[in-house]
Amino acid sequence: MTGAAQPARGLHRPVVLMGPPGAGKGTQAKKLAARYQVPHLSTGDMFRHHVGRGTELGRRAKQIMDRGELVPDDVVVAMVEQRIAEPDCAQGFILDGFPRTVAQAESLDALLRRAGLPEPWVLVLRVDSGLLLRRLTGRRMCKIGGEIYNVYDRPVAAADRCLQHECELVQRADDREEVIRERLAAYQVHTQPVIEFYRGRNLLAELDGSGAPEAVSQALFDWIDRNEDRGR
Ligand code: AMP
Repeated sequence: MTGAAQPARGLHRPVVLMGPPGAGKGTQAKKLAARYQVPHLSTGDMFRHHVGRGTELGRRAKQIMDRGELVPDDVVVAMVEQRIAEPDCAQGFILDGFPRTVAQAESLDALLRRAGLPEPWVLVLRVDSGLLLRRLTGRRMCKIGGEIYNVYDRPVAAADRCLQHECELVQRADDREEVIRERLAAYQVHTQPVIEFYRGRNLLAELDGSGAPEAVSQALFDWIDRNEDRGR
């Protein structure tokens, strides 16, 4: 099936979108969710939501996130398990930012089994470190709708305001350079082994995430459509 064709509703398997910070997981997960009409589950967004509401979990997570470290596995797994149990996840879902450790990947296997759901497709976005730094240090977010911009890109560079809501753009606290370094290190140490954990299964693909967002989406759609067709 090509990108222009009408996609099937739902997915045969959940999708795990992986890649280092700045690889474009959030942007691509939203596009996948829209195309396959399944929910986008971002653990980072869930934590930011808790931080914004000032919950107990939010207070705990904020301290960890501001240092660029990982929230403990049991906390993340419990949050994901609760979300996956909601009825809108029955037709599949896109996981963005989870699992980030091998222990989380093992827990995900167990909770998918318990829910009677199949093993996930695992799609890894590859981007070189120079481009990652540029994307992360330049990233700004709309305060109202969460749209993502980059100060290095036109036309935002000139105005530094959200094109949709015309509001001020803000920088994520963890997009400061010293925290970015920590996050990239956490990815190397804890998350890179998750790719190896999944590699043995015939359900993993590594794709180039350095192109324009539309080109990356098309590659993701093509891969999923091809493999979903194979599984029918
Ligand atoms: P993200 O928006 O995915 O970059 O996540 C932002 C921050 O939230 C991370 O740097 C972690 O501190 C925390 N976080 C998000 N997902 C996870 C996860 N699966 N495991 C541990 N910490 C996480």
